Amino acid sequence: MDPSRETLASAPYVTPLAEELAEDVLERFLRYVRIDTQSDPSSERYPSTAGQLDLSRLLLDELRDIGLQDATLTEHGYVFATLPGVAADTTVGLLAHVDTASDTPGSSVSPIVHRGYPGGPIVLPGDSSCVLDPTETPELAARVGHDLVTSDGTTLLGADDKAGVAEIMAAVAWLARNPGVPHATVRVGFTVDEEISRGTDYFDLDEFGAALAYTLDGSGLGSLESESFAAKEIRITIRGRGTHPGTAKGKLVNSLKLAAGLIAALPEDSLSPETTEGRQGFVHPHRIRGTAEETTLVFIARDHDEAKLEEHVQLLRRLADDVVRQEPRARVTVDVEFQYGNMGRAIDAHPRVVEAAVEAYRRVGVEPVFEPIRGGTDGSRLSAEGLPTPNLFTGGQDYHSFTEWASVQDMAAAAAMVVELLKIWAEPASA
Ligand SMILES: [Zn+2]
Repeated sequence: MDPSRETLASAPYVTPLAEELAEDVLERFLRYVRIDTQSDPSSERYPSTAGQLDLSRLLLDELRDIGLQDATLTEHGYVFATLPGVAADTTVGLLAHVDTASDTPGSSVSPIVHRGYPGGPIVLPGDSSCVLDPTETPELAARVGHDLVTSDGTTLLGADDKAGVAEIMAAVAWLARNPGVPHATVRVGFTVDEEISRGTDYFDLDEFGAALAYTLDGSGLGSLESESFAAKEIRITIRGRGTHPGTAKGKLVNSLKLAAGLIAALPEDSLSPETTEGRQGFVHPHRIRGTAEETTLVFIARDHDEAKLEEHVQLLRRLADDVVRQEPRARVTVDVEFQYGNMGRAIDAHPRVVEAAVEAYRRVGVEPVFEPIRGGTDGSRLSAEGLPTPNLFTGGQDYHSFTEWASVQDMAAAAAMVVELLKIWAEPASA
């Protein structure tokens, strides 16, 4: 931030409770983001990196300090703990993941708190080319006066999902300190390796023991996500014929060229991540490895609509067939792997789960914005396995990037919303 510009008085909080929770949320958040918890897709271990366990252990200690005596660290690195509620209530799960994405540097994060954001661009001190620009980011332009947290520009921040972790911790700590406030029994669950799609690989629903759950892993204020992509991975292997290039005339069948042709045959201005939004699905080549002899292309296909997802897979099958039609000496195999389904169907069967969240948002003066997730979340798999788990906002923005940021006011709103949600589930209307 330009030091010559004066900061403003900080923007107000959504409710007095949010104001009361704000410093605790911020303190925890700043503590958690400093721990390197990047997950690693190339690791065979679980969790994929040891740093995640450093945060899991810290959370275990903090939960015990708060008074959640049954807090445990499972052999797979999940942290589970219970805050008992009123008698004969519903057990509500609260989930967030401790790992951060691996596509942007994530060690030695030094968070910066910009109090009373005055508007205008924020130049990050670690890399002056790293600028948060309100003309490109309407969410930032709308947060004049907020206290903002960023990295120094050389790493991600880690609001995804340490904002969610901090908000759950602050909300639970507040309820533990205020035993007179009736609330539902809470099962806290902190997961690992969410960013590499292994977040719930060893998640034991019986051990967790919640009737319903919420992930705190959404983004901007008000976002409420009860639908995700349905997802498949398609692996196409093209076998050509390798020979010495000096004597290749009439013999060589170069699989790399056939693979390039296949990618070039994809639609140019549709059906790709770079040309779609909202509910539009896509086919995305995301890895290619090969030699003249053999090339493997890995695609992901995504759509909220499972029938359309199947059409995307069929498109790739047709393109694979075309390769052989054009070059009959080539051999092509197509393997399709199911990754996750759209969680919407499982959540729709339990309408009260989303209704209660909507009510909690409104009690803190936040209007819910329903957004279909263009991706998956821990909730996609958990919902499919029988634990309806929509995704709630955390106040973090611009995830997985050097310019990731979070508003303290919005994070405090999320923590206050969580307290309201747990109160709602103890009210007679929710029984
Ligand atoms: Zn996340």
